[in-house]
Amino acid sequence: MRKPIIGGNWKMNRGTPEECRNMLKKLIPLVKGINAVDIVIATPFTALTSAYEMLKNTYIKLGAQNMYFEEKGAFTGEISPNFLKTIGVEYVILGHSERRNIFNESDGLTNKKLKKALYMDLNPIVCIGEHLEEREAGDTQQIIKFQMNETFKDLTREQILKVVIAYEPIWAIGTGKTATPEQAEEVHIFIREFLSQKYDKETANLIRIQYGGSIKPTNAKDLFKKENIDGGLVGGASLDANSFFQIIKAAFKSD
Ligand code: PEP
Repeated sequence: MRKPIIGGNWKMNRGTPEECRNMLKKLIPLVKGINAVDIVIATPFTALTSAYEMLKNTYIKLGAQNMYFEEKGAFTGEISPNFLKTIGVEYVILGHSERRNIFNESDGLTNKKLKKALYMDLNPIVCIGEHLEEREAGDTQQIIKFQMNETFKDLTREQILKVVIAYEPIWAIGTGKTATPEQAEEVHIFIREFLSQKYDKETANLIRIQYGGSIKPTNAKDLFKKENIDGGLVGGASLDANSFFQIIKAAFKSD
């Protein structure tokens, strides 16, 4: 049994200590005691310390939205994984489509960051997904396969077991267009099959694969009901404590 994991990616929102605290003040009481689902909140870097203070006695895990693959040096504007570890960050989102598309981050760079995150004992949430044109051309599986080959290059079985994969079709991110549960499940099965061939079936069955892309309280349950969807990475709807709570509740597989 894979434990569902729900991540809230705040993107470039709620980044001042006060905004962050106000948001968490609403969320923490709602999710109090929930341990059947892993909950991760990825705040902007500027709010991580405030978030840490508020989350340290809760089940909610702290996440960052990015990091660099070096620990220190002349890398102006970058954030070291060591800084993240030191301030209590446990998860890090890597290869988000906004990093790839707006900041031209490649699969190769994501692979370097991923290896470093694993080395530093940070839990990576690695995003992959296709563009609309790629889906419409029938290339989804080919794109996903390519991204996985490059992004997970040279990862051992022990390493890949620590990775959470977020399947995020780019056409569904922040657009209000969600993949249907069937469309998402089809890709999740494909991802698991890829992992099974690259490693083995047992390994593939242990790895958590989240869906991400316009998840809302109204569509979460149907997505999470699918056998291979192990929770979600949530952008917009994670900025509202109540919506996020509803999505977390939808991840209880037994309901
Ligand atoms: C995301 O940023 O990873 C995401 C899925 O965003 P949204 O839920 O807003 O589509």
